[in-house]
Amino acid sequence: MDMYSGHINRLIEELAALPGVGAKSAQRMAFHIINMPQQRVERLTDAITSAKANVRYCKECYTLTDEEICPVCASVKRDHRTIMVVENVRDLAAYEKTGKYEGVYHVLHGAISPMLGIGPNDIKLKELIARLEGDVGEVIIATNSSLEGETTAMYIRKLIKPAGIRVTRIASGVPVGGDLEYIDEVTLLRALEGRTEL
Ligand code: ZN
Repeated sequence: MDMYSGHINRLIEELAALPGVGAKSAQRMAFHIINMPQQRVERLTDAITSAKANVRYCKECYTLTDEEICPVCASVKRDHRTIMVVENVRDLAAYEKTGKYEGVYHVLHGAISPMLGIGPNDIKLKELIARLEGDVGEVIIATNSSLEGETTAMYIRKLIKPAGIRVTRIASGVPVGGDLEYIDEVTLLRALEGRTEL
């Protein structure tokens, strides 16, 4: 990449470090940015820096939000006794899109993976346990059906079951290893309705 100026190389390197961006797309994006009007470049950089400065974890469910408490947790229309545990914000968004789930969420921000060295303390599990001291009727585990997702589900079950709280797992109509966000709404709802006791 030495054929480009140092500034362009730096931009390409930063873009290529983003998830899902290969070296070729990074180059294409870099040249696109260079050719953009100054105003648009400023809008882009401002969107990045202000999102970083203002977005934070919801104090209840740990999704990303602009407020202290996210709109779902703040809503009185939601059933706060039912908590659906998901791996990431994208999974939460997938269930929210169905418009049929009335409970609240808990976002783990990952899954337990001994292979990648991700343990229970590396995801928002302590925070989930802390929430269970409140009035909770059911915990629906909606982690992915990957090895990591199943390991996490079993771990949570072991933690919660002694507390006498109902623990359920979404049905495995969800393809193995499938990321929840790519699954259509009908399948998601069927998985939720067909959930089984753990
Ligand atoms: Zn929340």
